Amino acid sequence: MPDTRESALRGDCAQCFGLCCVALPFAKSADFAVDKSAGDPCRNLQDDFRCGIHTRLRPSGFQGCTVYDCFGAGQRVSQVTFGGVSWREAPETARQMYEVFPVMRQLHELLRYLTEALERPAARRLHGELRTALGRVEALTALPAAELEKLDVGPVRAEVNPLLLRTSELVRTTAGGKPRGRRGADLIGKRLRGARLRGMDLRGALLIAADLTDADLTLADLIGADLRDADLSGAVLTGALFLTQPQLNSARGDAKTVLPEGFDRPAHWTAS
Ligand code: SF4
Repeated sequence: MPDTRESALRGDCAQCFGLCCVALPFAKSADFAVDKSAGDPCRNLQDDFRCGIHTRLRPSGFQGCTVYDCFGAGQRVSQVTFGGVSWREAPETARQMYEVFPVMRQLHELLRYLTEALERPAARRLHGELRTALGRVEALTALPAAELEKLDVGPVRAEVNPLLLRTSELVRTTAGGKPRGRRGADLIGKRLRGARLRGMDLRGALLIAADLTDADLTLADLIGADLRDADLSGAVLTGALFLTQPQLNSARGDAKTVLPEGFDRPAHWTAS
């Protein structure tokens, strides 16, 4: 069975054939210094599949690379689906490997959320259904490459999403008060300094460049929320639901930001 421990659902570049640096296209923008087509290796990818500018991605104009996480799909495709044989060693497998990678990423993202849901005591009554869904998604990740490349993840998402929504409701209820929602809200650039967003449903909310300084986001559902350049300085994110490290990496914050357990403080956040 695939390993769904937290470490297996985070990118491990040392075990990957640089798949995100080859398979995905970039458009020249504030996030990427160059254009790149899908299937072309990034000019900074070294022969050992390491990034040649890993320690200076932001100043070099590759901020987009610091906010990307494959949820462990890269190492899974490299080491399991393709048995540790890279696209350089077997160029005839390259096209299929690049097709499989984004499919596996979607499956691993679902595994990441289901695993988190199973760790929430407030959702205990759903744990049976969550385990069943986890098992189904795990089984899909073990399919051979020829089946994975054709897999439509849409129906799998449709099965998992209601479970995640019910988990969210159960967990957010514990924040006190009536659960409130701003799902998918356009909050770009909004001044939400010190806002009480405790237990709020912010699924898919656009919080780009929002001022969330000192906001209380305890137990808020942040699945898919766009936090690029949002200011989380002094904000409290204790118990925030379905938050990912790439979301945090894309935001700003400081030494006072209270992170949920298991998250790293992004290096670019000020130490003040
Ligand atoms: S800059 Fe580095 S991390 Fe980003 S795509 Fe290129 S090799 Fe990969």
